[in-house]
Amino acid sequence: MIKKVLVANRGEIAVRVIRSCKEMGIKTVAVYSDADRTSQHVLFADEAYHIGPSPSLESYLNIDKIIQVAKESGADAVHPGYGFLSENTKFSDRCQAEGIKFIGPSAYSIANMGDKITARKTMIAAGVPVVPGTVDMVHSEEEALQIIEQIGLPVMIKASAGGGGKGMRLIKRAEDVTSGLRAARSEAKASFNDDSVYIEKYIESPHHIEFQILADSHGNAIHLFERECSVQRRHQKIIEETPSPILTHEKRMEMGEHAVAAAKAVFYEGAGTIEFIVDNNLNYYFLEMNTRLQVEHPITEMVVGVDLVKEQINIANGLPLTLKQDELKQVGHAIECRVYAEDPDSNFMPAPGKVTHIETPGGLGVRVDGYIYEGFTIPMYYDPLIAKLVVWGSTREESINRTLRALNEFKVTGVKNNVKFLERIALAEDFVKGNYNTHFIEDNFDFLMNYKEHVQEEDDLVMIAAFVEYLDRIGELKPQFQPATSQHSWKKLKRARSYTGARF
Ligand code: ADP
Repeated sequence: MIKKVLVANRGEIAVRVIRSCKEMGIKTVAVYSDADRTSQHVLFADEAYHIGPSPSLESYLNIDKIIQVAKESGADAVHPGYGFLSENTKFSDRCQAEGIKFIGPSAYSIANMGDKITARKTMIAAGVPVVPGTVDMVHSEEEALQIIEQIGLPVMIKASAGGGGKGMRLIKRAEDVTSGLRAARSEAKASFNDDSVYIEKYIESPHHIEFQILADSHGNAIHLFERECSVQRRHQKIIEETPSPILTHEKRMEMGEHAVAAAKAVFYEGAGTIEFIVDNNLNYYFLEMNTRLQVEHPITEMVVGVDLVKEQINIANGLPLTLKQDELKQVGHAIECRVYAEDPDSNFMPAPGKVTHIETPGGLGVRVDGYIYEGFTIPMYYDPLIAKLVVWGSTREESINRTLRALNEFKVTGVKNNVKFLERIALAEDFVKGNYNTHFIEDNFDFLMNYKEHVQEEDDLVMIAAFVEYLDRIGELKPQFQPATSQHSWKKLKRARSYTGARF
């Protein structure tokens, strides 16, 4: 049985994994780069080891160093979190060779699903529907045009090794095929050192719906229902919810069965996610499998009442699943908002830096998975996630209202962030009605960008509060100060007081 886990990751996911280990009585080992010396995951773990300079290639992706620390610290297992080495077959092979358990699937499953062309072939063989398109990689423009003739425009050219929305090109006109192929290839080469691409039909106004699965080493596999991930910017998720507002019970169960079949087809062990793209008529197609824990896994935990990290550890220990498919239920509704240090005004460009003030929300049904505290500098080297705000409500309506309440309590200063933008999403009529697809952000752009007005007022309030506190401190805040202000600024002053909690 696993007694000590090295968490080969950083930030919120490292903290989240450490928490479950603590509850299971398992010792934890953190690793950190220069930029993360004071990161919360370092402070939370039982032991922490410095593994190198800030760039991930020299630290969180340094397999030799991480294995060395695992041996030095006596860790008998490694949890890779998401990103970094979580889907790296060299790393999982190496762990196995060194006698360290890799908390995740076998290198065989990772390799089979990591390459999208291979995954599509495996899914076709397993009877899981895939997006119409090429079975093999596309070599030339002629080949591309041939397949386009069969499936029709528009199409997506996609990198076989793709991930994070990279190496993907939408082609609407035949004359754009050459440039699209070139662009997708060179981006794929630069990002994944592999320029193989394939073509699939572009599904208009689709939903991105994924299924959480768990599979043990005894051949048991179950699904824990879906997550609706259609609120995306730059093909990247930003708000997720479960249950999906568009699925019927029958469709959900049918997709769940296909998700389980997909996992079984690669002899999967551990927690994984089958992503489907779903059209307006609820036709669904396998998109890809993520062979690791997902960023958005907490919403599943909230409605199904399961700790997925504990399940992962039990599976790695060789225990059979105790959860039974027909006993699982979705109770209530959960929403996750990804709070990022990013600038919605500049195409959501990362905006790392020092957090001068942070207040996270609390109360019934609110969970914040974060790692940042006041004074911490969000490094420029990694994903600029500040925290995941995860909210549970007994109904979808309650969980939207609770999300709005919690976002209103969420205060971050020092770095540009998307809190107000997220608030606008939760207020948008299409979101509230559950009437949205992956084009939601572009379709509602004007409404969503209107958050600026609100930010401006909050900036004013913070300034007023700071000024009045300053007057108070230097003894210049006279009793006659208040009546002397105009009715308008007096109102603003009162709002500044309640907004900032200042003492005047
Ligand atoms: P990645 O692995 O880079 O995240 P995915 O294949 O998971 O790429 O696709 C990411 C997103 O791109 C999807 O959620 C969807 O919004 C969009 N997308 C991908 N393939 C298609 C398609 N065939 N038709 C329409 N949209 C697509």
